Amino acid sequence: MTIGSPAIELEKLLDKGRKTAIISHFNPDGDAVGSSVGMRRFLLSKNMDADIVLPSRHPEFLDFLDPEKDIICYVDNKEKALQTVNAAELIICLDFNRPERTEWLSEALTGSSAVKVLIDHHLNPDRDKFDIIISDASASSTCELLYRTLMDFNAIQGDPHRLSHDTLTAIATGILTDTNNFNNSVTPDTFSIASDMLRCNVDLDAINTLVFKRYSESRMRLMGHLLTDSMEIDTRLHASSMVITMKDREKYRFADGDSEGFVNLPLMISDVEVSALFSETPDYVRVSLRSKGHISVNALANAFFNGGGHERAAGGRLYMPVGQVRKYFLESLEQFLLTSEGR
Ligand code: 5GP
Ligand code: MN
Repeated sequence: MTIGSPAIELEKLLDKGRKTAIISHFNPDGDAVGSSVGMRRFLLSKNMDADIVLPSRHPEFLDFLDPEKDIICYVDNKEKALQTVNAAELIICLDFNRPERTEWLSEALTGSSAVKVLIDHHLNPDRDKFDIIISDASASSTCELLYRTLMDFNAIQGDPHRLSHDTLTAIATGILTDTNNFNNSVTPDTFSIASDMLRCNVDLDAINTLVFKRYSESRMRLMGHLLTDSMEIDTRLHASSMVITMKDREKYRFADGDSEGFVNLPLMISDVEVSALFSETPDYVRVSLRSKGHISVNALANAFFNGGGHERAAGGRLYMPVGQVRKYFLESLEQFLLTSEGR
């Protein structure tokens, strides 16, 4: 690979004749779907195309980003998903730092001889696995990083008006969801981008309504149940834990993405520094961790929860009965706080 700006290297690779796939992580969130759709919409606006392949379904509230249902989801169509990744000559990887985060697509991705480009804002990307890396852990979101990358393209020359309105809308969605409506991880760049978006008539208010104000009644009741009946506070460790069981899933007709954001709620309590949400699935317990102080939940997730993420937002998995997870959480946190990373 020649040395040059990675954005320009990527721009050079974008070509109608080159089969391109865009892939993102398991349990895709607003940033994963927003960056994937934003990248594809940019290509479409330049008369190119790419297939988006996701390992699992996105939450329903993001359906507005895929009105034609073009996204290929491994869970719904395994063959087509794998074929698309295998046939690609260029694979653009968005919002994950290591191939394993794509779950069932990981093998195809790692084994592919395609040129692989990574655009991502997680810590410690797996550098050996990608040919071009655009990585910045200080970016609020992959969408912010994608925006900056597109701005650097020769075709755009730093002029947001050269990006199509629907490309900007998809990118804005990821910035809004990953920052929780400009609440977390924002940088001066985040607000400049938001300002560019408004100048280009992107309706941030409408996106805000679409992503944050479309709860189903059962989702709202699940939130009430978790806060009233499940949340336990450990005042000594300044930690909160909540658990969604398989029973809760049934009772509250749990759909993908229904617990999005709930883990943040206990951080509103002045004394709570770390919040954990455990969600039982048939195969493992999904872990979501958040902090508002100095504690790196990325390090905590790495050390004890088979996962990772960002300093203040991370996730992972536990392979133990759901009844044991709270005890494990408190013991792990206590141990972690004694280590140099946790202090
Ligand atoms: P969430 O709690 O919203 O599912 O995830 C928070 C952050 O942690 C996200 O940035 C996500 O990419 C990361 N994350 C979630 N689950 C995992 C996991 O199993 N492994 C790793 N490495 N990161 C995860
Ligand atoms: Mn992200």
